[in-house]
Amino acid sequence: MGTRLERREEQAAEIVDRLEEAYPDSTISLRYSNRLELLIAVILSAQCTDERVNTETEHLFEKYDGAAEYANAPQDELAEDLNSITYYNSKAGYVRDSCQTILEEHDGEVPDTMEELTELSGVGRKTANVVLQHGHDVVEGIVVDTHVQRLSRRLGLTEEERPEAIEQELMELVPEGYWQQFTHLCIDHGRATCTARNPDCSDCVLADICPSEKGDSDVDLASGDDW
Ligand code: SF4
Repeated sequence: MGTRLERREEQAAEIVDRLEEAYPDSTISLRYSNRLELLIAVILSAQCTDERVNTETEHLFEKYDGAAEYANAPQDELAEDLNSITYYNSKAGYVRDSCQTILEEHDGEVPDTMEELTELSGVGRKTANVVLQHGHDVVEGIVVDTHVQRLSRRLGLTEEERPEAIEQELMELVPEGYWQQFTHLCIDHGRATCTARNPDCSDCVLADICPSEKGDSDVDLASGDDW
């Protein structure tokens, strides 16, 4: 039986507390060894699993080193190097164009502001937030990926649908010191228990405060559809 706590701020804080206990080592799962590799890994991860990206970047990061090598790589060759990734042709183009801009406008360094990052090819607010948080230790917002989007709605934190609107609402609810960790906790719980198609509500640490809990609710608040 799940009932959301009355105030959404309380609900957010309780979710963070419980998930922190359940996933004490929660962190980013993409592998990288510098900011440029982080940026590239995040660009590649759009609509692709982190696991797949890590497999592909293992050889990619050995072959290419620095923005100039990516910018000067032939499009076909770079695309071929990424061919197990979804939309690899487009993503190869984004990586080349971003690296070109980084060379021409940022002395070969990954920029450290939201504005400059989102001017790079293939980089939206979500990607920029990840790069700022993990590459520059700057936390300006909350990364809203598919797991954060789904869990925030299921757990009654937001009724918004667009990631940008969800982010704005979450920033008012989640204590600022947890903005970064909130994403990783949602991702871990979304992978382990609150999966998209078949969440395991009977074994969920949030069941009693979740208004979508299957034993109690007929509706998945993430989609608005019946379970
Ligand atoms: S697994 Fe079920 S109870 Fe747990 S957060 Fe997801 S929908 Fe709610």
